[in-house]
Amino acid sequence: MTTKFKKAFRNCEYFDYSKDEHKNSMLEAIAKTKSEFGKEYPQVVGPVKRWDKDPKYCISSYNPSNKTELIGMVPKGTQENAKDALDAATKTFETWKRVPIEKRIDIMLNARKLLIERRHEFNAYCVLESGQTWNEADGEVAETIDFLDFYSRHAEKWCAKRKVTAKADEEGFLQYIPLGVGAVIPPWNYPCAILAGLIIAPVVAGNTVVVKPASDTPVIGYKFVELLEQAGLPLGVVSFVPGSGKEVGEYLVNSPKTRFIAFTGSRDVGVHIYESLAKQQEKQVWLKRFIAEMGGKNAHIIDSECYLESAVLGTMQAAFGRQGQKCSSCSRAIVDETVYDKFVDMLVEKTRQLKVGPSEDFANNLGPVINKQAFDKICQYICIGSAQGKIVAGGRGDFGKGYFIEPTIIKDVAWNSTIAQEEIFGPVLAVIKAKNFDEALKMANSTEYGLTGGVYTQNEEKLERAIRDFHVGNLYLNRKCTGALVGVHPFGGFNHSGTDSKTGGPEYVLNFLQAKTVGRKVR
Ligand code: NAP
Ligand code: MG
Repeated sequence: MTTKFKKAFRNCEYFDYSKDEHKNSMLEAIAKTKSEFGKEYPQVVGPVKRWDKDPKYCISSYNPSNKTELIGMVPKGTQENAKDALDAATKTFETWKRVPIEKRIDIMLNARKLLIERRHEFNAYCVLESGQTWNEADGEVAETIDFLDFYSRHAEKWCAKRKVTAKADEEGFLQYIPLGVGAVIPPWNYPCAILAGLIIAPVVAGNTVVVKPASDTPVIGYKFVELLEQAGLPLGVVSFVPGSGKEVGEYLVNSPKTRFIAFTGSRDVGVHIYESLAKQQEKQVWLKRFIAEMGGKNAHIIDSECYLESAVLGTMQAAFGRQGQKCSSCSRAIVDETVYDKFVDMLVEKTRQLKVGPSEDFANNLGPVINKQAFDKICQYICIGSAQGKIVAGGRGDFGKGYFIEPTIIKDVAWNSTIAQEEIFGPVLAVIKAKNFDEALKMANSTEYGLTGGVYTQNEEKLERAIRDFHVGNLYLNRKCTGALVGVHPFGGFNHSGTDSKTGGPEYVLNFLQAKTVGRKVR
């Protein structure tokens, strides 16, 4: 097979904001983004772009650090818009699937080039629309750049004709072909990288999609769709219909025109979609494919035989990075009783030094949570937690200007209590005491999820046991359980954490392909 890619894949490097050059570019990008506040962005249905200036029919996206700042508005889509978008995607699929893979890859690599040029701008939008700190935003946009490269390489490989076992009187081959029209339904917590990843992989493989962005972050979503158009993607390959999950999301899931659903979000919504798509609709002629990444209740195991300082730092970063709003966030620290008190003291001391405030200020370590609903839900869990354990750090929230919650540590929590079992999705860590490593492993495996996990120990035999028995899709040894890198840590979980589709993995593109076998009689 000839390949376009002469060099091995390498992850995009991060900006270093201690350098004036990077810092000043980001400050400029933030100022420019602010000068664009309040703009209207369109819905894209096939070749048609539609604006709506009437706030009654718009989704208004606000800065979670400052509720009065309107980032932008998009039209609130209806079921009719979703239907038109699916019709357009169905029509465009007939031409897009015949565009040679080399050409489809060229468009993705153009988009990568454009995104590298506009990196600071995308970073600034992530900071202002979804409340991420600078470094978090930079990591996310770097991941998007990686996806454009990585999925293109693997699409090239998977879309090539493949050999089958030889037979004397036949010539045969196997070829992967695209599925058809997909519904892309991403969450708000990685508004650029997850949305982009769910688009790039199916589209480079020859499918067309209708994207319904999360209602909290439609502006970044539009910016990425627009970037693909600027890179040369024909209109109609990606439609963009913001709207509510209940209205637009459900319509896309249930339509007989939808061949697959690429979803990332909560357990409840994922399970609901799984149930609905199993129902055969009138005129539907396939079983829909479901690619789902869902919630987590991830744990770090802190063993008696570990470097405590590294365990403390890793746990603090994994629990409170992105305000604990990562599917991979550590929300349980399961600590051996012999080091329990020391670990808690060290963690509390370090956590108290973290600064919470508007994410546009680089000095802040934690920004806001995404909205009032999330704020209320997290505060409610803290309240429940105060009865199920002892709050030793944080515990307070402030929604005066934005939705800020202190990084909160609750110790002496029982492994089976609510706050040790349910996904909180905020800066709240439950600390649980274990008698020994075996008990810690059992506790770690006790939830309905199985996304990420971390184990801190210098004991080789225990590490081996964790590799064998800790039932998570992404296991990390002597490092934090967040921060998966494209290609390095293919990502996705077990049980109610999803379908283990492994984003950023070499087989991810296969989720959007089906194999066709051809056997030809030669004599
Ligand atoms: P969510 O509430 O489940 O929403 C996800 C998406 O589904 C949004 O676009 C939402 O639209 C849409 N939706 C809601 N109801 C729907 C329905 N009935 N039919 C079709 N679509 C519907 O999740 P979220 O709050 O945005 O994100 C946080 C969750 O995502 C957490 O549970 C987190 O663990 C999970 N997550 C998992 C991964 C992973 O890789 N495993 C990565 C990131 C996040 P609206 O915005 O309009 O409601
Ligand atoms: Mg939501």
